[in-house]
Amino acid sequence: MNIHEYQAKHILREYGIPCQDFRVVSRATDIEEAIDSLGVTEAVIKVQIHAGGRGKAGGVKIAKTREAIIQKANELLGMKIVTKQTGPDGVICHQVMISELADIAKEYYVGLLVDRAHAKPLLMVSPEGGTEIEEVAEKTPHKILKVHFGIDGSIDEEALNKVCRFMDWTEKTGEAGKIFIKNLCKAFVENDGEMLEINPLIEDKEGVLWALDAKFSVDDNALFRRAEIKEMYDPSQSNAQEVIAHEMDLAYIALDGNIGCMVNGAGLAMATMDLIKYHGGAPANFLDVGGGANKEKVAKSFGIILSDANVKAILVNIFGGIMRCDVIAEGIIDAAKELQIKVPLIVRLEGTNVEKGKELLKKSQLSIIAADDLTDAAKKVVAHANSSK
Ligand code: ADP
Ligand code: MG
Repeated sequence: MNIHEYQAKHILREYGIPCQDFRVVSRATDIEEAIDSLGVTEAVIKVQIHAGGRGKAGGVKIAKTREAIIQKANELLGMKIVTKQTGPDGVICHQVMISELADIAKEYYVGLLVDRAHAKPLLMVSPEGGTEIEEVAEKTPHKILKVHFGIDGSIDEEALNKVCRFMDWTEKTGEAGKIFIKNLCKAFVENDGEMLEINPLIEDKEGVLWALDAKFSVDDNALFRRAEIKEMYDPSQSNAQEVIAHEMDLAYIALDGNIGCMVNGAGLAMATMDLIKYHGGAPANFLDVGGGANKEKVAKSFGIILSDANVKAILVNIFGGIMRCDVIAEGIIDAAKELQIKVPLIVRLEGTNVEKGKELLKKSQLSIIAADDLTDAAKKVVAHANSSK
């Protein structure tokens, strides 16, 4: 789950990581009060959205007078922001951060993530901050240093010294840098981080280090023990279908094709999407109804798939293991009655109670196109989606 920059900074501050003081505003009428309580006459105003690259998209503005702060904050509130990470539809900015300006001497990059291959958290640092790290990785990979740290959030002195040398942090800045990195590693692990990016981490004219930006995403599977973070969930930052799926505990990701997919199991869902692509189609979504889905969940899934106007055909691909095919069939029949499915529906069922499931579908008189196997299903759904263009 992603959280906003201001929420991440609240967490970082608890770990003693220096961040400029800020206020967050969601209503235009609160802007002046925020400026007063912050006590500034110049500030940076930043949209709070779940995506990076805000600066380039016009979502970060520097204002040098009180009037300019008010004007820019007003402009950004409610603005639609399209960045590389939001997709073409963009997201609406419902909150802006008004923050103290920093006196930037140098910008660095720091990122923390889980390195699955080595089963350890990984720290990545670069003296090339502020820019896109992907570009640094591609063009000048030697400017990125990677070091693992402990799963308990600890990092040893040797690793810290290595980081300081790489970043050229010496004396007072070196000492501050070690504390900064140490606290960052601790904050990452203690909050079940999946990814934490400080881009840029800056050094000011006095050699003091600050987290100027913070992008934090937390492991969904750990939210049960992170009640405070769970509260930070912001549905306005996801697409409408994804929000319903989240509430129903369904794994759903919207994509830009026209074939709706309903599959059980993430692996089978990936394979189904691959086959659709292979046969010249484009999936409209990834949807894993899960191993033990019931009739209601299947019906709800149909609702989510159909609420995407781009969907021209649906492929149901179920391998009944724990999940019984007759239960799936019942869910399909219920949904079809309730939702009046008008697009072609291709169904491939296999596994537990498959005969009973097929029998139910046949009896229902629904116009379902049955598929014999996965390839047959993919070919049929692509043909139907393409013919209804
Ligand atoms: P994003 O990464 O989404 O574009 P950032 O918070 O990194 O957003 O801001 C983009 C750039 O704006 C920074 O690299 C920095 O140059 C400038 N900036 C951000 N916050 C401040 C601040 N408090 N003071 C001065 N400049 C800032
Ligand atoms: Mg940034």
